[in-house]
Amino acid sequence: MLNQLCSIVLLMGPLITEANSEEEKLVLGNKLKVVLRKIDKCECVIVMLMFKAGIRDDQKDKRGLSHLAEHLYCYSATKSFKEKEVWNYYIQNSGVKGANPYEVSNAETTHDFTYFYAVIRPDNLGTALKMEADRLNGIQISPELFKDEVGRAVSEMDNVRSRPLNKALAIFDSMYDKEFPNLISKCGEEDDLKTLKIEDVKDFINKFYKPANATLLVIGGFDFDEVKNTIKEYFSDIPSGEQQERAPVKTTINSGAIEKSFELEQANTNYLTITFPAGGDSLSETLSLLIINRLLFMQIQTDSNYPKDTYPIIEYSQFSKEDRGCLFIMWEIKNTKLLNETKSRVLKSIFKYSENPIPTDQLQQFKFMMSMEFKVQDPNFDNPAFAQIPFHLLIANYALQRAIFSYHYEDTSDELISELDKMTVESIQSTAKKYLTSKNVKTFIFTTGK
Ligand SMILES: [Zn+2]
Repeated sequence: MLNQLCSIVLLMGPLITEANSEEEKLVLGNKLKVVLRKIDKCECVIVMLMFKAGIRDDQKDKRGLSHLAEHLYCYSATKSFKEKEVWNYYIQNSGVKGANPYEVSNAETTHDFTYFYAVIRPDNLGTALKMEADRLNGIQISPELFKDEVGRAVSEMDNVRSRPLNKALAIFDSMYDKEFPNLISKCGEEDDLKTLKIEDVKDFINKFYKPANATLLVIGGFDFDEVKNTIKEYFSDIPSGEQQERAPVKTTINSGAIEKSFELEQANTNYLTITFPAGGDSLSETLSLLIINRLLFMQIQTDSNYPKDTYPIIEYSQFSKEDRGCLFIMWEIKNTKLLNETKSRVLKSIFKYSENPIPTDQLQQFKFMMSMEFKVQDPNFDNPAFAQIPFHLLIANYALQRAIFSYHYEDTSDELISELDKMTVESIQSTAKKYLTSKNVKTFIFTTGK
């Protein structure tokens, strides 16, 4: 299944509150990591299970496997529950009136991880945990469900690919193959999905969907002691499995500049895409690139010479400490005449970071903001900026943010904050000099052809 949670995760970062919630972490004997976070005033609970398994774990001849496994894990029968019973239970017990079912319970396979979540009423938490433990203990995949879900995965991917933005990303992606694999879900074409077998999915789930490879998060209103006891009772006896070794995805840097233009059929807008393979050699580089990312976004927001009808997506993404990342900018530019001018202006700004990256006082502000985020403070749910977003989506996003954080950094947020403290204008400058160069830039322009 696919959902839209990620798109508002970024929005939540800076809008944090000082009010503290309580958090407890535990690791069970079978290596299952558990994060319990209690949020005052929260009348619902989110249960989220996240696995270190994703598109990067698909073998070359089994594209789409991780995505199909996610679907089947979601709907299959378990020892105590019938096919689709868990899913139906979540939809019927969300306590969120009028919500789209896929908002109160959903799952997503990303390049790097897969997560399942449900928003439920606190009095259903015991049952939810029992269901989660039951499916973590093993699922029974029926041939009918398997066939249905192959069909659904095919149509989901057709749907994703038919949108102009995704078409642009797919072309971009295919130019790089493995270099920037998270830009669009590489969830397999029809031919790939139709060659997969039930046994492939079983093998995948047996390997990756195991306590040693998972984090369970419970976030919202509940009683700590009661929940801890329930979790220990239901999850402790599930066989651990093994944490899986995963191949790093290093990209080459300074592999030469590329500039290409494409016409997109049926699109009514243009896209400007600029990327730099970057970072990944040290934590300091990663932090420098995150700062540059924010700096660029702020500059574009405040400079009146940029087109203002849309803002660019600007991301520095890096899957894990071992991997190389990528600074990625994608901008929907409606007025064709502004495409080239905008491109030159953005590039000029980026190249400048190797000379004058950031004023010292501004760096201090950025460091403060980022350190608050690394401490994973709760968002200020009363902030008017969130007024348009339904609470169950806010809390689901928050859970995802919390899960991603614990996935990447586990207990190392102190290490992250101390490295951030050490950042200087010079360290940012030297990272910019290394990666953000005219030799390393890849520019793609997608036009409507009109
Ligand atoms: Zn799907």
